[in-house]
Amino acid sequence: MTKDEVLQLFKQSGALLEGHFRLSSGLHSDRYLQCALVLQNPKQATILGAALAARLRTISETPDLVIAPALGGILVAHEVAREAGVRGLFAERQDSVLKLRRGFQIEPGEKAWVVEDVVTTGGSTRETMEVVTQAGGIVIAAGSLIDRTGGRTDLGVPRFALAVLDIPAFSPDECPLCKTGSQAIKPGSR
Ligand SMILES: [Zn+2]
Repeated sequence: MTKDEVLQLFKQSGALLEGHFRLSSGLHSDRYLQCALVLQNPKQATILGAALAARLRTISETPDLVIAPALGGILVAHEVAREAGVRGLFAERQDSVLKLRRGFQIEPGEKAWVVEDVVTTGGSTRETMEVVTQAGGIVIAAGSLIDRTGGRTDLGVPRFALAVLDIPAFSPDECPLCKTGSQAIKPGSR
């Protein structure tokens, strides 16, 4: 699947939004990728997950499990895991810290792919990697549908994104849109 084919799916689904957004990282940006709109079509979710799994296989061995941060990554982990034929887990926030809940377990020595929908700063992926290593697991690769940092985020493991974009994001103090008096909205809040 080429980057253009991936972006075409996002555009067709109305998932590439323009405006003034507050991202989950806290940064502001004039564009937002609402992956839920692409993934609401299960066939599209399966196609994207299969494409990501196929590319991760070229940079890594097959893992024992795939894990993502909730909520945005859950469907991505599920679909990548389907293609890889392994378990798909998610970590979720409890008191703002990502944890394994719901009886999910990672055994010492188990190898994991950490996946996400969109990498903006790499923060959620790094936190999920920490969840794996704290459980004794080993992160062998990371993947995302979209990398909006122009490929600049270094996670310390091989990584791949189906589409690498360079979309600027700003701290609120430095946001040019805030300077015009515009209010950032949190996407998905309405
Ligand atoms: Zn702003």
